[in-house]
Amino acid sequence: MNIENLASAHGQPDGFTAEPAENVPCRFICAPQGEENFRLLVHGGAWDIPAVLHQPHADGVAKAYQAAMKAFREGADGFAVVLAALEILEKDPTFDAGRGSFLNECGEVELDAAIMEGAGLKAGAVAGIRNFLHPSKIAHDILSKTNHAFLVGEGAERFAERCGHKRLPPDELVDPREREVFAAWIKAGKPDAKVFFSSPANASLRSGAEPEKRGTVGVTVALKSAAGQWNLFAGTSTGGTPGKMQGRVGDVPVIGAGVYADDEGAAVSCTGWGEGLLRIAAGQRISAAVRGGTNLQAAVEMTLADLYRRMKGHAGIIAVDRHGNMAASYSTPFMAFAGPAGVVTHLRQPAGCDTLRRQDR
Ligand code: ASP
Repeated sequence: MNIENLASAHGQPDGFTAEPAENVPCRFICAPQGEENFRLLVHGGAWDIPAVLHQPHADGVAKAYQAAMKAFREGADGFAVVLAALEILEKDPTFDAGRGSFLNECGEVELDAAIMEGAGLKAGAVAGIRNFLHPSKIAHDILSKTNHAFLVGEGAERFAERCGHKRLPPDELVDPREREVFAAWIKAGKPDAKVFFSSPANASLRSGAEPEKRGTVGVTVALKSAAGQWNLFAGTSTGGTPGKMQGRVGDVPVIGAGVYADDEGAAVSCTGWGEGLLRIAAGQRISAAVRGGTNLQAAVEMTLADLYRRMKGHAGIIAVDRHGNMAASYSTPFMAFAGPAGVVTHLRQPAGCDTLRRQDR
């Protein structure tokens, strides 16, 4: 099925253009399993993930999924469930979040994160912070302890310290391998990060360095209330893109772009080419489409298709909606994500998910 067929299958309006088959998003419809009142998807980034890193990505998202599931079973609220997963992923140097993040053009780690819930549209976001392991927790503190929704840079760092978050020594979050990747990025002529999400990816970088660690991380959660309503949550955390300009902010901490949650629509977490996801307002676009009656999976796929059609960008998205549906799709070569039944991966369908169509890679 090409993108045009996909579009017509979902009643896509006129003006939807067919694109080459290699840009058709991979589609997973995730069937709920086990927990009647709980929906959970976790992602660990959508990129041309090198084969040698597939297993660490799969293991990492599985571990995060299990931590979130455990938090739910122990009675945690939706925010705590999201944070339980993000905490694992930010600590794991496999992923581009917290420790092990990509370095910016100055060779530093700068972190962005956001968290949101869909009943009262409460949101917290943080961007451009250094030397804190868990930006997602700082984002949550912004949401719960201030009247603001978004803090950046030095002010955000000072706030984090006041809240008791530990400021780490400089370079503590830098994985030594990232120094090699950084050197290779310079050697390769400082390519723009957009190329890293598509295929064939960064052959020039690979030839000059160890395989890169990759993967922004994200979580979507739905909890059913006693009244039968789904309360939606989403969180996303990243170190951004390799060689980004100092101070660059992508989609991740921007409410409505890399993260969104609205109980009247959907909760969404994105990964991929941030400039494009930001400009297309991916999270809000999906939620608004669902609110207008579009099927969740269709809304996710149409957003990925539009990202490519309008800007030739690639990305991956997980989402849950107001009906308790789950969806995951990506137009990059791979996405690491964990679905229902506790386990996982980017290469095989998560247990409990029906693969309707999937590209051969
Ligand atoms: N979207 C992230 C950013 O642009 C990168 C990623 O998802 O890997 O900062």
